[in-house]
Amino acid sequence: MGAIENLSERNTHFAKHHFTPGLKIAPQLKTLVIGCVDPRVDPAHIIGAALGEIAVIRNIGGRVTPDVLAEIALLAMLSSTLGGALGPGWDLIVLQHTDCGILRLQDPPDKLAAMFDIEPATLDEKHVGDPRAAIKTDIATLRHSTLIPGAFRVSGVLYDVETGRTEIVDGPEVLRLDPIDV
Ligand SMILES: [Zn+2]
Repeated sequence: MGAIENLSERNTHFAKHHFTPGLKIAPQLKTLVIGCVDPRVDPAHIIGAALGEIAVIRNIGGRVTPDVLAEIALLAMLSSTLGGALGPGWDLIVLQHTDCGILRLQDPPDKLAAMFDIEPATLDEKHVGDPRAAIKTDIATLRHSTLIPGAFRVSGVLYDVETGRTEIVDGPEVLRLDPIDV
C-alpha cells in the first residue's frame, strides 16, 4: 500500500471518529505560528493544539521571510473581512528548532539568500547556523515590519528535537500599541 492509500484510510477513520464540524476560520486561541516544514516539528502536535485552535505558516526553517510577512498582511485583510481584527489580543509565535535542515543549505548561499530576498554576501546577518540568534533576528524583522498589524504579542520559541521540549528565547513582547490600518 502506498502513502496515498494509507493516508486515505486514516482519513476515513478521522472523518468518522475525530472530525469536529462547525469550526470557525479564525483560530480559537487567536494564535498564528510560523514554523518549519520538518515533519518532526509539526506545530499543532508539539504544542498540543487541536483543529481550529491555531493558524500555522510553515517554510524551511520557520523563518520570517518577505513571503511570510506578505502572508500575514493578507491574513490581516481576511480577518477584517470576517469581522475580527488580527492584532490586538493575538499571539504570533516564531517556532524554530534544533537540528534544522536549513543548516545544510548555507553553502552556496544563493538560494537561501533568495528566500530572504537579500544579497548572498549578507546571509550571515540571518544567523542561519545559530537557532537562538535566528529567532531573535526574525523577531526583530517582525518588530520593524509595517506589514504586521499592531499590538500583536510576539514570542520566539526554540523546540529541541532531542527532548521534545520548547524554550522561549525571545518575548513575549507586544509589538506596538497603535494598530495599523489594513
Ligand atoms: Zn527545520
